[in-house]
Amino acid sequence: MTDTLSSYLASIRKKDPDQPEFQQAAEEVLTSLWPFLQDNPAYLSQGILERLLEPERSITFRVPWTDDQGKVHVNRGYRVQMNSAIGPYKGGLRFHPSVNLGVLKFLAFEQVFKNALTTLPMGGGKGGSDFDPKGKSDSEVMRFCQSFMTELSRHIGANLDIPAGDIGVGAREVGYMYGQYKRMRNEFTSVLTGKGQTYGGSLMRPEATGFGCVYFAEQMLKSRDKSLDGLRVVISGAGNVAQYAALKVIQLGGLVLSLSDSGGTLHFADGLDEATWKKVVKLKNQERGRLEALDGQPGVQFIANSTPWHLSCDLALPCATQNELDEDDARKLIDNGCIAVAEGANMPCTLAAADLFLEHKTLYAPGKAANAGGVAVSGLEMSQNAMRLSWTEEEVDQKLHEIMESIHNACSHYGKDEEGFINYVKGANIAGFVKVADAMLAQGIV
Ligand code: GLU
Repeated sequence: MTDTLSSYLASIRKKDPDQPEFQQAAEEVLTSLWPFLQDNPAYLSQGILERLLEPERSITFRVPWTDDQGKVHVNRGYRVQMNSAIGPYKGGLRFHPSVNLGVLKFLAFEQVFKNALTTLPMGGGKGGSDFDPKGKSDSEVMRFCQSFMTELSRHIGANLDIPAGDIGVGAREVGYMYGQYKRMRNEFTSVLTGKGQTYGGSLMRPEATGFGCVYFAEQMLKSRDKSLDGLRVVISGAGNVAQYAALKVIQLGGLVLSLSDSGGTLHFADGLDEATWKKVVKLKNQERGRLEALDGQPGVQFIANSTPWHLSCDLALPCATQNELDEDDARKLIDNGCIAVAEGANMPCTLAAADLFLEHKTLYAPGKAANAGGVAVSGLEMSQNAMRLSWTEEEVDQKLHEIMESIHNACSHYGKDEEGFINYVKGANIAGFVKVADAMLAQGIV
């Protein structure tokens, strides 16, 4: 049995040399868990780490589809069923050209811990395809989704594996996939979450990840007797998470200084207002356009080919994608006075950036804690579907608040040091690990 941290990390690198994102996620978790594991050796002797790092099942499949000109395309589809110790596999589907097995394994691994933190009974999984919905017509997207679901439907189910959205998969894609699943199985079950509200979707699910991230940031600030009121907030991304994080910051009196997409950063020198927020949402969700189109609107400046991390701020919410914020960016944020970072995306900070934040005692929350609100409301969608009822917006928002607060408490319980500094990385990893690992110990070597 391998028995030092470096030998574990070396064996992961050796086993999956072509999966840098998975190696990175595993290194972050194992490094922060290591002292805890030395104090609790049963986890190591029962092979919990080896088992957590190996998906229970990984499925890859061919997704053939026809474009509007009649040309045949083939993409690769995946579902990584990582861990079902505490509930059925649960996690989103990502459609993006960067998708490969390593990216999905990192996301599925993170999802196991995140889902455990929500307090709800959900295991972890992730899936998707290297298909790029950008520039495709609605009918092309529909044909792709139907083909993807035709194969995926063999591997999922309301009590087995419940996918949802992620980058490139929103209400439109979930709708097409749900329609195809229902048609093939002839049953109306909660097999996907993030459904439209007319067919079983939960109120607040679109808002949940962004709102939850801001609720978490509020808790972090509260631990230093601060609130969001009047704070300058830099946000990256312009998709579902960034949009609702921005709206909640505005509602709580903060100043949103930026949003961004792959073309550059939209800078709002005096803060984003609700009218401009609506324009961004229309542009991104209906017109599927680029942020650059809003350059020159009152109070709006587009900075081409730039991330927003050079802007002076109090709070940073990286809500775009993995590794979008590196060590140099972290240094700029710290030098410019940023006191807190909450990840709306999954693993947006590199390991070196995260280390720098911790070294400078910046309040730093990893995605598995700060962005768990999305999957938490997905869990609430499953409960509502099972009970055949729907809760009001207030009820779901209240539950989301409670869940984010309980995740904060769990992080604080395991992550607070003698001086009162909360290491959220350590706290989230230990709290998530203990729940899953104890269930695995109880269930034997499976
Ligand atoms: N893709 C989201 C995440 O990273 C949500 C998953 C879900 O709702 O199942 O947590």
